[in-house]
This record gives sequence, structure tokens and C-alpha cells, in this order.
Amino acid sequence: MKWKEQLLNLTPYQPGKSIDQVKKEYSLDKIVKLASNENPFGCSEKVLFTMNQSPSFFALYPDGYASELRSVLAGHLSIQEDQLIFGNGSDEIIQMISRALLSPETNTVMAAPTFPQYRHNAVIEGAQIREIPLVNGEHDLDGMLAAIDENTAVVWVCNPNNPTGNYIKEPALLSFLHKVPRDVLVVLDEAYYEYVVAEDYCNSLDLIQKYENLIVLRTFSKIYGLASLRVGYGIADPQTIKALEPVREPFNVNKFAQASAAAAIEDQNFIEECRRKNREGLEQFYAFCEEYGLEYYPSQGNFILINFNADSNEVFQFLLEKGFIVRSGKALGFQGYVRVTVGSKEQNDGVLDAMGQYLAKQAAAL
Ligand SMILES: *Cc1c(COP(=O)(O)O)cnc(C)c1O
Repeated sequence: MKWKEQLLNLTPYQPGKSIDQVKKEYSLDKIVKLASNENPFGCSEKVLFTMNQSPSFFALYPDGYASELRSVLAGHLSIQEDQLIFGNGSDEIIQMISRALLSPETNTVMAAPTFPQYRHNAVIEGAQIREIPLVNGEHDLDGMLAAIDENTAVVWVCNPNNPTGNYIKEPALLSFLHKVPRDVLVVLDEAYYEYVVAEDYCNSLDLIQKYENLIVLRTFSKIYGLASLRVGYGIADPQTIKALEPVREPFNVNKFAQASAAAAIEDQNFIEECRRKNREGLEQFYAFCEEYGLEYYPSQGNFILINFNADSNEVFQFLLEKGFIVRSGKALGFQGYVRVTVGSKEQNDGVLDAMGQYLAKQAAAL
């Protein structure tokens, strides 16, 4: 068959191991998954009513325009309703942007390593990919600017960056946006926006008014704890949203997702509580790294990338057998490192204890 040539070398996304898989494989009864930056505290109780519905709720298509969610979210963000586009996760918005703008005649600029879906979708569209290495875990914005030419269609900026957790300070981001040509779309992926506490982090919504070529991506999968329902959104100038809308599938965000996300927004106490506990959790990891002399990237997200100076897969495997699923840095472009989602205090204590055991074993082997 006549598959696109670029698909032949593309592997589907490899998700982290599931809890059930690991339970079976290692005969463990308690597994803690700290691999996909999900919220260890679940979601707001206020969303639970959305699951208890009558048969007619199931039978009817969802509102393709997500009107209720749109109205609640626009109010929450103090923006206009026509500045929003919704996706089946922000993953789908990344796909829509790629579909709308990328082709074999274009190129696209991104950091490396960063969130892999930018590259993945660009490959599918046959665009040329220009990856600019991170410098000390941070985007090399000048390098990215230098890579832009007349065929560049999209520039991807992940802030805070996954997998490093680094963020871009406001002046640097402002100067970057000022210099990007106005016919190049800048995608600012803020999947971890609600976790950020840095004071010089940019309030990107103020920039939407100024830059028609900027789209900000956020999600309900991370701090809102609704990853299973798949709902993310883009915020941009109404003209940009309008240009993107035709590539969106008519009923792309399901009814449960729309209702749950709208309810979740109303419980900002839950969000604040999660942000606070996440900070406390990060402090546990920082203290551990300092005690053992491990390098790490200070994080504005709900995860931390730690350098074990060892085979990442071996650390991963050791932790797995103790019942903790983390991400091996190897698959993320950081050989020697492990990325761990910040869990509850008890989960963090557990994984740090297991990490301590790994380091003790390694020291004993020397
Ligand atoms: C998790 C994540 C996403 C995907 O979120 P969904 O809304 O669940 O598709 C997007 N970007 C980054 C950087 C992420 O870490």
C-alpha cells in the first residue's frame, strides 16, 4: 500500500508501563505510578456528578463547540470565548496545528529534548525538523531564532519544558516573541502552567492581544487531574482560532470531559492545594539530591529530572521491582537520568527510600 514514506520509521508513542502490567509481572500488590505527571491527588470531588448520567446523555453527541465549558473557561481566564479552541487533550491541538501548517514544503523549529509530540506530528506531515539542543536544560531561544527562515511555519516552545522542568524567564520570552517573524506560529505549551511559582514567569495571556502568531496550550490532564478524560485547549487571537477550527473534528471533546472540566474550574481551592503540596514534594526531592550529591534540574512542573550517573534503564528497573514506575531518562534524551512525577508525601518518601537503596547498592559494588 501507499503509506506515507515518513511513517515507516515512526514508532507509535510508548506509554509508561501500566500499574496492572507491573503488578502481574513482578507479583507486587502495591504499585505507585510516577511516570506520566498525573496528579497524585486525583481530581476535584466536584466533577464526580458528571459520571452519573441517564441513557439519553450517552446517546446524544456532545456539543461540538463545547459552549458551557467555553463560557466557564473564558470567564475564569478573563478572555473572550472566541479566543479558545478545545482538543481531545492538548495532544490533539498539537496535531491540529501540525495538520493546518506543516507540509513537506515547510520546516518547524523546536528544542531537543522536549515534549516528543511536536516532532512526531511534524514527521507525519513530512515537514523538515530543526531541533535546537537545550543549553543547561533550557531552550536556546537565540539558536531557535537563527534556525527560522522563510519556510518555517511553526516554532514550538515548551514552558516549563518537559522533561527538564526548566522555565523561560519573562524578558527572554518577550524578546524572543518580538523577533519571531509574524507569519510564523509560536506554540507556547504550558501544560504545567498551574504548577509554576516562579515570579518572573510570563503571563502569556497578556501577549495574545499583541501577537496574532502566538497560541498558548494548556490542559486538564495535569494539575486538574482529568488525564483519563482527554481535554486540553489552545488560547489565541480569534483570527488564529478561526483559521485552525476547520481541522478540528466536529465532536472531538466528549461530553464527560466537557462537563468535568467545567466543574473542575470551579474548584480552585483544589488547584491551590495541589500546587502547594507539589512544592513541598519537590522540596523532598531537592533535599534528597543534595544529601546524595545528585544533580537535578530545579522544576516548575510536577516532575523532576535527576542525574544518577548510571544506566537510566537500570535505575528504572530497580525502582520498578520495588513497586515504583518512573520514566527512564534514556527514552527522553537524558541518558543517566530518571524523570519522576512528584507524588503524595507518602509516595515521595517511598520512591526516595528505594532510590536510596539503589545508591547504596551501587556504592557497595564499587
Ligand atoms: C502531558 C503534556 C501534554 C499533553 O497533555 P494532554 O492534554 O493530556 O494531551 C502536552 N504537553 C506537555 C509538555 C505535556 O507534558
